[in-house]
Amino acid sequence: MTYKAEYIWIDGSEPTAKLRSKTKIIADGAEPGTWGFDGSSTNQAEGRSSDRVLEPVATYPDPIRGGTHLLVLCEVFNIDGTPHESNTRAQLRPVADRFAAQQPLFGIEQEYTFFKGSRPLGFPDGGYPAPQGGYYCGVGADEIYGRAVVEKHLDNCLAAGLTISGINAEVMPGQWEFQVGPLSPLEVSDQLWIARWLLHRTAEDFGISATLEPKPARGDWNGAGAHTNFSTSAMRENYAAIIEACEALGRGDKPLEHIRNYGAGVEARLTGAHETAPWSEYSYGVSDRGASVRIPWQVEIDKMGYIEDRRPNANVDPYTVTRLIVDTCCTALGA
Ligand code: ADP
Ligand code: MN
Ligand code: MN
Ligand code: MN
Ligand code: MN
Repeated sequence: MTYKAEYIWIDGSEPTAKLRSKTKIIADGAEPGTWGFDGSSTNQAEGRSSDRVLEPVATYPDPIRGGTHLLVLCEVFNIDGTPHESNTRAQLRPVADRFAAQQPLFGIEQEYTFFKGSRPLGFPDGGYPAPQGGYYCGVGADEIYGRAVVEKHLDNCLAAGLTISGINAEVMPGQWEFQVGPLSPLEVSDQLWIARWLLHRTAEDFGISATLEPKPARGDWNGAGAHTNFSTSAMRENYAAIIEACEALGRGDKPLEHIRNYGAGVEARLTGAHETAPWSEYSYGVSDRGASVRIPWQVEIDKMGYIEDRRPNANVDPYTVTRLIVDTCCTALGA
């Protein structure tokens, strides 16, 4: 007998990478092995030398197909064995290793927006819904659009064994959030990419698409972010480490280095309005949803816990955001 292995990888699309997948039939008892694909069709190769290599790095039970079928997350390599330039997971690996003793943990809040055709789900044809106010964590058909898809996606994530900490309806109609974590840098990033794949795949069966666009609707509507919550063992034990992490993110060139890698179009989302801080001015504060980095109120009371970097866009690459935060904060905390 055989099972189906859905090989999932991240492509080379600019400015934001896309998920790709294809199916391999594997004999029962055999592991998903190395495979290949046509990189010229995914912006990862020229047609003249198009072969790229898929190397499995994590497997999950496939909640769509059920049974013994698997989802297989892959890294992309060149045929000479070097990581492909689009392979940002390979760049995270050595940084995660170097600072593993500090036990970094991440929880990422993935916001996204459903679309039906060319309009956000819940936006009437040719018009606009009532202004923001009642939609966030709302209930009822006048405020909530797409809950059946959201529930199915949550069940699929849990059946795949992902560490989801919660879900909620967001500020704009058709906008939702799920949170992955807390987990190590590689685990949270792998699981976020799988949860994203499951989101697109689950919505597909409802004839609905999901986008990670940071500004899916023009006008007075909230954007979509990927707030990135972070702690180390020191931060989970003392407040001086919490403050040092916040300070480290604001030192020298760090604010710009981070912002440049926090997702395409981040400047358009971090305007200073709609619960954001302006991208050009780094700030941190307790309970402040208008700051770049927020210290949750409970963390100030407990004098330990985690911080929330509110800047990353919904379309951010988690391998990159976790690499930068670990590098910046763990270097400072380890000094
Ligand atoms: P918000 O109030 O900003 O909407 P959420 O409840 O959506 O907060 O998300 C908080 C996130 O913080 C969750 O993903 C959770 O897993 C994560 N988290 C909790 N504790 C820690 C910790 N010690 N280190 C890192 N992340 C954490
Ligand atoms: Mn072919
Ligand atoms: Mn949240
Ligand atoms: Mn949110
Ligand atoms: Mn948040």
